[in-house]
Parts: sequence; C-alpha cells; structure tokens
Amino acid sequence: MKDIDGLELSPKKGEYLKFLLERDGFAKTTDLAGRFGVDPSTITKVIGELAATGLVEHVPYHGARLTETGREYATFLVRRHRLLGLVLSHYGLTPEEACSEASKLEGYVSKETVDKICSSLGHPTMSICGRITHDTCCCCPGDEGGGGP
Ligand SMILES: [Zn+2]
Ligand SMILES: [Zn+2]
Repeated sequence: MKDIDGLELSPKKGEYLKFLLERDGFAKTTDLAGRFGVDPSTITKVIGELAATGLVEHVPYHGARLTETGREYATFLVRRHRLLGLVLSHYGLTPEEACSEASKLEGYVSKETVDKICSSLGHPTMSICGRITHDTCCCCPGDEGGGGP
C-alpha cells in the first residue's frame, strides 16, 4: 500500500469502507442503507462505484465485501482517523470532540502527512478511540529504505 495517497476516495466512500471493516469485511445492502440513512438503490450504486476501484466486491443480491486491497485501505483509513483524533486531543479537545472533528477532516489528509504525523509522535499505538495499528504504516518492518537509488 505504499502507492496510495489516501485521497483516492471521497470522504463518504471512505466511511463505507470503514463500516465494512467494522463488520469484518462484509455488509448487507440493507445494513449499509440503515447505517448511512439512504435507499438500498443508492447503496447498490455506490457499491458499483467502489467495485470499479477494486477495493470492494459486489456480492449480487447480498451486499458488499472488502477485497484484500480494500481491507488494507480501510485499515489505513481507521489509522488516519485515530492519529488525527490523537493530534486534536493534544490541543484541548475532549476525546469526543477530537473523534468527531477528526471524522470531518480525515478525508482531506494525505497518507504522506499521516505517516509524517505518525513518525513525529513516535509511532503511537493508542488513540482516544481505539488502537492505532501499524500494518500499513511508515513504521512497518521492511517498509523503510527500500526503493531508493
Ligand atoms: Zn474516533
Ligand atoms: Zn508510524
């Protein structure tokens, strides 16, 4: 996942991916419709758009499943949310405020920035709203020094 910039999806689509990850990778169309307060027909359309990115697989008449790449991407999205929440909590916001503000901002923050923040904070593992995983992180073993001239 080194070649993502984190801005491939609209913030809204990012929320779909995170929801699928919460559900261990699969959600029914009706669950998605309920969660996002929209029509099942809208969900089917969004699933189609996500399927075109290769992050999600459409399971006809059932719902949507994250592909392996989609799962990695969603893991990055959660990591970005939690890192931003952590940063905001350092500047006077309560955990609830930081979590909610991070949700509004996160869709506009690139992976490069997230990795830099992660490094500058010393690769934290705990945020205000959950663990910060490092699977797709700047600090993964073997993820450094490769690819240079
Ligand atoms: Zn949060
Ligand atoms: Zn890190």
